Amino acid sequence: MGEYRMLDWLEEQEQAGRKYANFINGEWVDSATGRTSPLYESARPNRKIGDFPDSGEEDVNRAVQAANEVFQSWRNTPGPARAGVLYRFADLLERNREELAYMLSAEQGKVLAESLGEVQRAANEARFAAGEAFRLDGQTLPSENNQIRAAVIRCPIGVVACIAPWNFPIVTPVRKVAPALAYGCTVVLKPASATPWSSVRLMEVLSEAGLPKGVVNLVLGSGSRVGDPLVSHPLVNGVSFTGSTELGLRINGIAAARLAKTQLELGGKNAALVLDYDNLEGAAEQIVAAAFACSGQRCTAISRVIVQKDLADRLNGHIIERMKAIKVGPAWADGAGMGPLIDKKQFESVKGYIDTGKREGAVLAYGGERLDMTGENGELGGCYLQPTLFTGVTRGMTIAKEEIFGPVLSVLEAADWEEAVELANATEYGLAVSIFTDRLELAGTLPDLIDVGMVHINHGTASQAHMPFGGVKRSGFGPFSIGHTNQEFFTNVKAVYTKSR
Ligand code: NAP
Ligand code: MG
Repeated sequence: MGEYRMLDWLEEQEQAGRKYANFINGEWVDSATGRTSPLYESARPNRKIGDFPDSGEEDVNRAVQAANEVFQSWRNTPGPARAGVLYRFADLLERNREELAYMLSAEQGKVLAESLGEVQRAANEARFAAGEAFRLDGQTLPSENNQIRAAVIRCPIGVVACIAPWNFPIVTPVRKVAPALAYGCTVVLKPASATPWSSVRLMEVLSEAGLPKGVVNLVLGSGSRVGDPLVSHPLVNGVSFTGSTELGLRINGIAAARLAKTQLELGGKNAALVLDYDNLEGAAEQIVAAAFACSGQRCTAISRVIVQKDLADRLNGHIIERMKAIKVGPAWADGAGMGPLIDKKQFESVKGYIDTGKREGAVLAYGGERLDMTGENGELGGCYLQPTLFTGVTRGMTIAKEEIFGPVLSVLEAADWEEAVELANATEYGLAVSIFTDRLELAGTLPDLIDVGMVHINHGTASQAHMPFGGVKRSGFGPFSIGHTNQEFFTNVKAVYTKSR
């Protein structure tokens, strides 16, 4: 994958100016609004990827109708057959890994190594989800009456709306669509308007895997014009949403008003605690990787380090050393370790937090500067920011509390583990935490004391493709995704009494 291969590939696609469509009932159809919006590459904002539908309520209605009509036949397709589609889908994701990664990097901006990893992760999750179609839980219970068998079965909830953000344009849609299919639900997918291209390709791959028409539908467009009618549609029985806490709360209110289910994966302000830990260099390596992957635009990014006072200077030194080694540049540049922020709006929001950090008295220990915006041949480049470290951060500061969603890491010092735990819990979020410690009793007790959905001991906040994924407090609501816990969202239980004699 040489420096120019991705560029060549993008040129070869002759995508510029191409018009894309919604995918409804197995067909590519223009939006009923007749409107489209242009999409540009993240790292080369003057290069157009194409024009994508700016859909509205009528498109949503058609997509939901299609998903609803095919629901009975899809739910009655035997689980192993549904799994068969997903196994083929996973194989095709792997076979098309490079192409999907290029598309992902072009629209999102993350470096190719990360994009390749994301596609592989999506394939792994799709395979795990396929297995779920073989292992729906049921229960047979003793009966009050020997002539009546008492059992509990699980049934798919029906049409599910899947709404995804722009930071993981391949894995998040797959994380929602694959389990929905495994459990027998049908889907209307609305990806972020900043990253529709990957989803278009996913529809092609699903079709190639043999998915019947109408089982998954794609409606592209803005959150308000597509998201609102989708969430409030009476035939949508569940909403699986990943995005900001603010929107999650709103969506939950609308869904709750008509008793539709929700699965919400929201924001985070994840901490890494470093307490009585010898290998500070190793901790720094893990922390830096988890803080700056995807330019920090990850819900599980480590954004706070909470370190015991006497280790702080040495740890900060190792962190800065690692940060200096990150080469910032476009996805396809040799050795690039961090791409641009997705767009100007996100860049300005993150830069605003850096200014606030300085103003509130945190010490800017590294980075904080915007990097040259000019791309090759003088063309407009992406919104690059240096990886940034603040030390001397205290709990009242804005950068210690709010989700920044960019490459900014804050170091807070704690007198002892009790204070470290208190600081870790001093945010509205509760997604993931890393704890670096050599003390067995801390490794044993701290997971109970920190209010989060995922705990990582002695490594960064990297999850696995079959483990439950989610958060508490303002980080999430409803059954955790990825793992077997998904069945709680995508199915309902039913009590069945059978009189056999
Ligand atoms: P966002 O602004 O909340 O948007 C998420 C999705 O919701 C997008 O597809 C958006 O469409 C759509 N949307 C907007 N308005 C809507 C409405 N009224 N009804 C229904 N849907 C609507 O989030 P983002 O900016 O894309 O992503 C960043 C956020 O996601 C961060 O807070 C991050 O922490 C969170 N996140 C969480 C996880 C997790 O697993 N916990 C993972 C990744 C990201 P448009 O794009 O068209 O606006
Ligand atoms: Mg947003």
